[in-house]
Amino acid sequence: MRMVMCREATRLMSKNLDAPLGFQERMSLKFHLAMCGACRKCNQQFQLIHDAGKAFEEKASSPPFDTNDQTT
Ligand SMILES: [Zn+2]
Repeated sequence: MRMVMCREATRLMSKNLDAPLGFQERMSLKFHLAMCGACRKCNQQFQLIHDAGKAFEEKASSPPFDTNDQTT
């Protein structure tokens, strides 16, 4: 299997947020994360950002204000 550099691993992580990785890419990333603590941390950050983005999208799709809004 091809060894991936941290730079490539990071690229795969960010790509993974947009679309699922292919099998080869997933395995390369997984293998790199298994031996690179720095990228494991980085991947966690990506995951957090991804989850936060999802939560934001869910909020954005609901009405901006509650019916009992008291800002007026
Ligand atoms: Zn790395």
